[in-house]
Amino acid sequence: MLDSNLAETDAVVANAIAAEENRQENNLEMIASENHVSEEVLEAQGSVLTNKYAEGYPNSRYYGGCEHMDTIEQAAIDRAKQLYDAEHANVQPHSGTQANMGVYFAVLNPGDKILSLNLNHGGHLSHGHHVNFSGQFYEVEQYGVDPETGYIDYNELESVAHEFDPDLIVSGSSAYPREFDFERISRVAASVDAYHLADIAHITGLVAADIHTNPVGVADFVTGSTHKTIRAGRGGMILTSEEYAETIDKAIFPGGQGGPLMHNIAGKAVGFKEALQPDFTEYAKQTVANAKCLAETLQNRGLSVVSGGTDKHLLLVDLRDSHPDVTGKDAEERLESVGITLNKNTVPGESRSPFVTSGIRIGTPAVTTRGFTESEIKDVANYIADLLDNPDDEELASNISREIDYLTQEYPIYE
Ligand SMILES: *Cc1c(COP(=O)(O)O)cnc(C)c1O
Repeated sequence: MLDSNLAETDAVVANAIAAEENRQENNLEMIASENHVSEEVLEAQGSVLTNKYAEGYPNSRYYGGCEHMDTIEQAAIDRAKQLYDAEHANVQPHSGTQANMGVYFAVLNPGDKILSLNLNHGGHLSHGHHVNFSGQFYEVEQYGVDPETGYIDYNELESVAHEFDPDLIVSGSSAYPREFDFERISRVAASVDAYHLADIAHITGLVAADIHTNPVGVADFVTGSTHKTIRAGRGGMILTSEEYAETIDKAIFPGGQGGPLMHNIAGKAVGFKEALQPDFTEYAKQTVANAKCLAETLQNRGLSVVSGGTDKHLLLVDLRDSHPDVTGKDAEERLESVGITLNKNTVPGESRSPFVTSGIRIGTPAVTTRGFTESEIKDVANYIADLLDNPDDEELASNISREIDYLTQEYPIYE
């Protein structure tokens, strides 16, 4: 798909793009936050829109020549509102993190209190981790999962909320495999006079397809990434009610960003249109069916899956019981060597460092995009288990590597 001009003028970048295209085609992408967008989304993102300044919002810009930008951004807004049944959508956040920053900036003052899910239990850096701005500007307390069940401990959440008296409660996660009870968290938030922000970064596609509970209308604010399960242009968005529309828009621009990335907003618009089609619902259902099948097959092979399974597109394997000597880092590297890309991940009750960890997170959005159903997923689950059981067996590794080659050739991403 490379333009030959780039290959002539800049071999370093051109070759790296070509090599990355090969890497994506020839490996199984099982990082839960990644996906493969359509060629149409790529076309929109790689367009002349990258040249244009469009500070402001549709029909209210600080620059001339924005009529086409208005058309594009309005399409993205209208489609997001339709997908999520939202009164208001802001599609300008450059990323999911900036969407969260926008909400914090809109309704909190420095020093205010945020209550969010512990990072080791599936939370996200932008929910108040000490290395992130959110952990430095705000006072943060965390809730977690029940160590026995792996499910959010709502009673604990409630009692921490009453003790800590937060100004904002964040629900949502990067590595928690179960649905959140958004209504219950909204009730807790109301009881302590706090806002509720539901961060659906990972599950934007599942919510859009109506196969995961939609927090819009339940939480005060909903933020998301637009490049994960929803498979649209890279970036973030905020969904909210008419009541907070102006506050949120001002917090994004001029509050936290300058000119919007119009090429990415076009990619969002194109991806949202795709997500409104009936076959996207089929895609989202298959993504979850594949994750459930993966969890079940791994469990049958003796691996321990946090919370005993999944409701969504990802699962978390805790290696401590089945493979006490294999770290998340070891597993990630060994699987990468045969063409399965996933990430090490901390697990509830983690004792190792975040660079080593005792778990792996596995997601099905990208392999489902390339056409995998349960039968391919079962094979992949068995390859994963085989390799974890016999990490030093080179013959096994090369056999698996060959099987992955067959699979990737049978299911190309881009024709
Ligand atoms: C991925 C993710 C984000 C951040 O998205 P970026 O676009 O990488 O900034 C925010 N919240 C959660 C829960 C996420 O999983």
